[in-house]
Amino acid sequence: MNQLQTTPLLDQVAIVTGAGRGIGEAIARYLVEAGAKVAVVSRSEANSSKVAAALEAIRPGSAKPYAVDVADFDAVQKVGEQIIADFGRADILVNNAGITRDTLAMRMSSEDWDAVLDTNLKGSFNFIRAVLRTMVKQRSGRIINISSVSGLMGLAGQTNYAASKAGLIGLTKSLAKEVASRGITVNVVAPGFIETDMTAVLNDEIRKGALSQIPLSRFGQPEEIASTVAFLSGPGASYITGQVLAVDGGMSM
Ligand code: NDP
Repeated sequence: MNQLQTTPLLDQVAIVTGAGRGIGEAIARYLVEAGAKVAVVSRSEANSSKVAAALEAIRPGSAKPYAVDVADFDAVQKVGEQIIADFGRADILVNNAGITRDTLAMRMSSEDWDAVLDTNLKGSFNFIRAVLRTMVKQRSGRIINISSVSGLMGLAGQTNYAASKAGLIGLTKSLAKEVASRGITVNVVAPGFIETDMTAVLNDEIRKGALSQIPLSRFGQPEEIASTVAFLSGPGASYITGQVLAVDGGMSM
């Protein structure tokens, strides 16, 4: 095997939000294993530091932790500047940080609506603003936004979450058209039900109901999303932009 096959992302700099656990942690690990250096971003310093330390153990110099609320535009611009100062460039941005505040629309508070939209949708825009100028100057970049099967199909109890995740698809397609001429691709990965803290809180009835709709008859693992993101970050995906890749065991087909 040549180096391009074993470490296709050698020396590339990736920013992964929500990398303190779950899917984001797996994405950060896959990108490091593919040769990249990763800015590990999460809300809590404890989680980003823990993950960055584990990645440093895989390859020294491969990761640094950053703690920020992605919903805070000014704070994200500052962290973005810090990351670019620390690593010297920004090649890959994975907007993965996300939350749920599930309840029926009839009962949903204005706070629950705002928290989910501000984190999932505006948070992604905030990080895009923080790195786009650098990518445009470099004339290359990969942006991958993590949506959800909920944004494709809608799920009862998730009007706020589905709106945020469907919004990411519109954002992605518009941005892909804006920046294609600068060598930057923008794509969406839309996971189905994946075994993380986010789905650990679902009761048996909801889990059973979900399983009955998944042709592959199981929830996915974070690594199954991470391998897709690594592919979209790498040389094999150079001609893919503005696309939505569902990784959901067939749930949305
Ligand atoms: P987890 O709840 O396991 O982890 C969420 C991560 O996002 C954590 O690292 C958390 O930081 C970070 N985060 C949350 N809010 C903020 C914020 N305001 N600012 C900065 N970081 C924040 O989620 P998953 O790994 O399950 O989900 C990852 C992404 O995948 C989300 O966008 C989710 O919507 C999407 N997704 C998940 C599915 C699933 O079944 N699990 C299905 C479809 C999509 P900290 O660790 O510091 O708390």
